[in-house]
Amino acid sequence: MPDLILPGLIDIHTHLRVPGGEHKEDFATGTAAALAGGVTMVLAMPNTNPPLTTPAALEMALSEARRSARCDVGLYAGASPDDVQHLPALARSTVALKIYLNDTFGKLRIEDVPVLVECFKTWPREKIIAFHAEKQSVAVAIGLAAIYDRPIHIVHVSRREEIELIADAKGRGLPVTCEVSPHHLFLSQADLERLGPLGDMRPVLGTADDVAALWAHLNDTIDCVATDHAPHTIQEKRSATPPPGVPGLETSLPLMLSAVQDGRLTVERLTALLHDNPRRIFGLPEQPDTRVEVDMTPWAIPVGGWRTKCGWTPFAGLMAGGRVRRVVLRGKTMVENGEVLVPPGNGRVIGVSATEFTDFTADTD
Ligand SMILES: [Zn+2]
Repeated sequence: MPDLILPGLIDIHTHLRVPGGEHKEDFATGTAAALAGGVTMVLAMPNTNPPLTTPAALEMALSEARRSARCDVGLYAGASPDDVQHLPALARSTVALKIYLNDTFGKLRIEDVPVLVECFKTWPREKIIAFHAEKQSVAVAIGLAAIYDRPIHIVHVSRREEIELIADAKGRGLPVTCEVSPHHLFLSQADLERLGPLGDMRPVLGTADDVAALWAHLNDTIDCVATDHAPHTIQEKRSATPPPGVPGLETSLPLMLSAVQDGRLTVERLTALLHDNPRRIFGLPEQPDTRVEVDMTPWAIPVGGWRTKCGWTPFAGLMAGGRVRRVVLRGKTMVENGEVLVPPGNGRVIGVSATEFTDFTADTD
């Protein structure tokens, strides 16, 4: 008997690197990592190469997801000043829009108010707009939610000033939700000397005070935990110009279970952060007859042995509170004793409207 049974987890923030970064990750390896971590549905970000800002790039990513995903995948559309006219077309095959207000890996970034306004006017109201917003950009995102009276979601919140601003916005009844990433909960600037480039991501690791603020808001202001799984090869990370980003799909649940073990989190709250809230906020479909069986024996996170193509983790040596034993998706066993059993192509692509569905090759299920 498993110690704990959870619903199939949903990770609303991953970078699966298709198209253009397949040497770092692809849908087959990224979704194997997801399943091994108890995640049965992932949403993938649009800062690919080319970025998912045109129907042609999106079609490339969709057909590859359909061919090789092992769990369910939804894609974000990206907002770019040059391609903003494509947003209504992109909305038909994506789950949400991603707007970058601050620099990160890749070229997608919006600096001009007219482009932001265009996004809010042309992106359909029933699909959420997610923001990469740091420091004062959080206030810009919240302001847009208030002006246009529609929900926005702020990704990977990492600083005290940001989470407190979001708490105030929620207190005023504004339609704002947010996520935090495990690396901002379990690592801080104090780990940078040890980790070097393996501890570099956007937003960067916070101070001990930032980390304390995030934990203090985990039971109220914070809606979701999402990995921001952003794999790069170890060679790239050890190069003279290491790109920002760390993997996280296989370690998110095990690390969060350590918070359950030490009483900082209830199982009910864990389930809200990793399943209920992501599903509600993004309007994601139910996965019937789906569950994750967990063994609650603490273990030390190893250096290697991962399914992600990049093969490393910034969390090596940290104690995890439990591990995934078995994952069942739509009645089919996908993971057993830590082994991923299911071949590529078993996942569904979600967020694609019925009319658009016929434009692509038949669903594999
Ligand atoms: Zn990201």
